[in-house]
Amino acid sequence: MEENRSWTRNGGRSTPDYREIDLSVLVIGAGAAGARTAIELAERGVDDVLVLGKRGHGDAHTTWARGGINGALGTHDPEDDWAIHAADTLNEGHFLNDPEKVETVTKQMPDRLRELDEWGMAFSRTDGGEIDQRYFGAQSFRRTAFAGDHTGESLLDTLVERAQELDVSYRENVMITKLLSDGDRAYGAAGFDMDTGEFVLFNAGCVVLAAGGYAAVYNRHTSRDDENNGDGPALAYDAGATLMDMEFVQFHPTGMAVDDDDPEWAPWSGRLVTEAVRGEGGRLYNADGERFMERYSPDQMELDARDVVARAIAKEIAEGRGTESGGVYLDVSHRDAEFIAERLPRMYERFMDLGVDMAEEPVEVAPTAHYGMGGVRVDAHGESDVEGLFAIGETMAGVHGANRLGGNSLAETVAYGVVTGERIADRVDGAGTVPDEVLRTVFEPHVASLAASTGRNGTYEVEHVLAELRDLMWNHAGILRDDASLREGLDRLEAVREKSSDVRIGEVTDRSFEFAIDLDFMLTTAETVLRGALERTESRGAHYRTDYPDTDPDWRRNVCFERADIGGTRPYTVPVGEPGDDVRSALDAGHELDYHQLE
Ligand SMILES: Cc1cc2nc3c(=O)[nH]c(=O)nc-3n(C[C@H](O)[C@H](O)[C@H](O)COP(=O)(O)OP(=O)(O)OC[C@H]3O[C@@H](n4cnc5c(N)ncnc54)[C@H](O)[C@@H]3O)c2cc1C
Repeated sequence: MEENRSWTRNGGRSTPDYREIDLSVLVIGAGAAGARTAIELAERGVDDVLVLGKRGHGDAHTTWARGGINGALGTHDPEDDWAIHAADTLNEGHFLNDPEKVETVTKQMPDRLRELDEWGMAFSRTDGGEIDQRYFGAQSFRRTAFAGDHTGESLLDTLVERAQELDVSYRENVMITKLLSDGDRAYGAAGFDMDTGEFVLFNAGCVVLAAGGYAAVYNRHTSRDDENNGDGPALAYDAGATLMDMEFVQFHPTGMAVDDDDPEWAPWSGRLVTEAVRGEGGRLYNADGERFMERYSPDQMELDARDVVARAIAKEIAEGRGTESGGVYLDVSHRDAEFIAERLPRMYERFMDLGVDMAEEPVEVAPTAHYGMGGVRVDAHGESDVEGLFAIGETMAGVHGANRLGGNSLAETVAYGVVTGERIADRVDGAGTVPDEVLRTVFEPHVASLAASTGRNGTYEVEHVLAELRDLMWNHAGILRDDASLREGLDRLEAVREKSSDVRIGEVTDRSFEFAIDLDFMLTTAETVLRGALERTESRGAHYRTDYPDTDPDWRRNVCFERADIGGTRPYTVPVGEPGDDVRSALDAGHELDYHQLE
């Protein structure tokens, strides 16, 4: 299909050869958000849609989601409804979420779950055969549907299969490097085939960015290697879109803390140690053997909200009571081996393989960057400030506010896939064309400079510069932030930026080429996280300023960034909207949030 409508074009200018592909809609990202959008478009009869991703077909970050996906089905708790789900989401988001977007997601989710069920998703079931639902931290009812401990994998398999039934076109191993826009409207994208090294121009009537999040700009993170570097926000920002809430990064309290010099352990640094370990009675101790949560949260102890536990651990480490690997101890050894093997099978096996028996000794854990709540600012349909450019899933901002409720990000992917697909289907009118002006002033210089960068014998190894950037983000925009440290982080970022133009780069198909582009994306993302954190002179949800430890009601505003005309970044703030009557009533009812049932 694609071969029929693609050709090589050079136009006689000094631009490397490239393939040109005409599309009505280009979906950048083959995770749950991209796949669900494509399904909606196909069901509404939109032709010439292409979904692409940087990795193989069906292989996206979504597959790593384990715990579940939220929707008020009321399987066990019939009193639950979408408005209570919305109220819980706003509570956990510390009222910085866009209430309209929260409503859009929560209202749809029961239908979205039933639809996934019809399409064959392997939901875990009750004895009566209904979709089972369980608690996730900070929800008032059991509304997290799940497929064993492989919810994300099952979700993506189901969506991919459905998309295949509808003949949606996919391309794997293609990296998008730039969106083609004149600042007001998007016309397509530039990228390259990671297998062949061929440059590609995508002409598209609409572009959907479903390219994931930015938690991997930190050195300790739960994301897959080489993903979640903030490609989506950076691409959108470069094209003229606004970024919002970038300072809000959810740090999961328990990632693996390891000796980074030990080759067996090093690859596990930051990997998630499931909340269920604490849910099954796991206790946290500092290096002095003190069960320190008694000081931070005497009632909830280890089961308090993610941001509270993460902050407590970070403080213990910062004040010198951490372990040698820079963490604290998580101990479940008061449970016997049989219990641990049955209730925490993956964890038990993982640590056993590494030579640690959880039934005999504690494991070392430390907070780890898990999810970026910020992203591209979009309207109610997922469209950014740039006409024709949509951003959804983890790339968009607005649903989660200052902290994300577990199980809500998968919900957001499918709910916004539908909303965006519906909107585009109403609007798109055949294949798009990149105007000559944009071709000459944006696309051609871009691919020419990409081509010129290959084979560059720079001073620095790109992977070392990436590591330096990730370290600086951890040290200067981590869990505990203050003015001086954030400013120092920005200064150090400038030094990294300088190095980024002097890195060694191989051929287009070499990993160093991909990493050099990642580095550019990460510089944009990192800068907006640092600047956003500096702007926000209060503490709220996942953003904690040691110099402004209180929440300031006047700060119920979102920090936004747009590119200034003269270069640089223009920050501004916008007030958050108010919830509708149904959600207001649910908030007023004051349902108790349950922190004691994790996963
Ligand atoms: C360990 C872990 C566990 C989690 N568990 C849960 C859970 O239980 N419940 C829940 O709700 N959420 C969970 N999450 C979060 C959830 O998995 C993600 O938010 C969600 O899957 C994001 O889906 P997405 O479609 O937006 O992006 P992704 O699945 O990240 O897909 C992004 C796509 O974009 C492509 N891409 C990126 N950049 C480019 C580029 N430059 N060019 C071309 N393609 C590009 C990628 O290749 C990929 O195809 C978890 C996250 C982690 C890390």
